[in-house]
Amino acid sequence: MIEFLNLKAVNQRYVNEIQSAVERVLKSGWYLLGKELEQFERNFADYCGFNHAVGVASGLDALILIIRAYNIGPGDEIIVPSNTYIASVIAVTACQATPVFIEPDPLTHLIDPDKIEEKISERTKAIMPVHLYGQICEMGRIVSLANKYNLKVIDDAAQAHGVMLDSNLEIKNFKNRALAFSFYPSKNLGAMADAGAVVTNDDELVDKLKALRNYGSHKRYFNKYLGANSRMDEMQASILNIKLQHLENDNLSRRDIAEIYLNTIENQCVTLPPSPKNPNHHVWHLFVVTTPERNKLRSYLESQDIQTQIHYPVPPHKQNCYQIYNDISLPIAEKLANEVLSLPLSPVFAKNDAKKIADAINAWN
Ligand SMILES: *Cc1c(COP(=O)(O)O)cnc(C)c1O
Repeated sequence: MIEFLNLKAVNQRYVNEIQSAVERVLKSGWYLLGKELEQFERNFADYCGFNHAVGVASGLDALILIIRAYNIGPGDEIIVPSNTYIASVIAVTACQATPVFIEPDPLTHLIDPDKIEEKISERTKAIMPVHLYGQICEMGRIVSLANKYNLKVIDDAAQAHGVMLDSNLEIKNFKNRALAFSFYPSKNLGAMADAGAVVTNDDELVDKLKALRNYGSHKRYFNKYLGANSRMDEMQASILNIKLQHLENDNLSRRDIAEIYLNTIENQCVTLPPSPKNPNHHVWHLFVVTTPERNKLRSYLESQDIQTQIHYPVPPHKQNCYQIYNDISLPIAEKLANEVLSLPLSPVFAKNDAKKIADAINAWN
């Protein structure tokens, strides 16, 4: 059986380092908001090329706390892609703001910047680009719209650790910008439980986030804001400090697998993801192909002992929990949900297995 993802093998490579890091935390007697987290916040901010990182409990919380820190709430609108993981949308509605869905470019599956401006209203407060599958959105266009209409940019970067955010520093360092990362175990940089972080250059935002994650208080028992309990624990921080050192290499290994698929799969019924113009604009969290016969391709691969996944079978606006949005028509996202199929890809995935999968797809008709 070729597994979709073997997380044990991913982490096994660093098991000794992880053991001694966890032991250090155990022996320290300090489990939350301590030295390990401080170190990780410094390391991750430096790695991303930003001034600050703030560790929180999950990627979803990173998004929610950014929205709250920017004082976006009831009556406000946030532009979101129609084709995304539901967490992007849950973050918006958890703050009682309204998501305004924008259809994706059918080739990249990323938010289509051509369709954003017509949806900007008096109520719009932010644009949330989601760097889906590890590809960077067209940030130049998104930042210039944010500039023109005085909007915040809240990046959902949960799938894009290590992607080149922009070589144009003015775009990268746009002042009203904060990025949310998730360290859910299967992400490119994964912890061993839930964890997340906000990355930004906005000093005031950092100050507020550090309170919001800790019941809204900077000083114990004095609550400036109505906060949450959303802290990254010391063990996860210590593990992430180790895994961060290997992220760059891991992303290169992911690229090698993606290139095998891109260069070897040639079946007219299967559409491959576009190769990025600049290889650093994609960190290949997922390798997603499309075909109108998706369910058939999936069963066929399963019959060949090849596991695949669907990211995602139902777009957020069609989910049962969002009946208020069920009648909205977003045909590109709806079609993608029926056609996408994710092939196995990870930093420990065997090149030989990638070739086998490509051969199996080429033999499918
Ligand atoms: C994983 C993910 C999230 C949420 O992260 P959690 O850490 O699971 O809360 C948000 N957005 C996207 C696009 C994701 O893939």
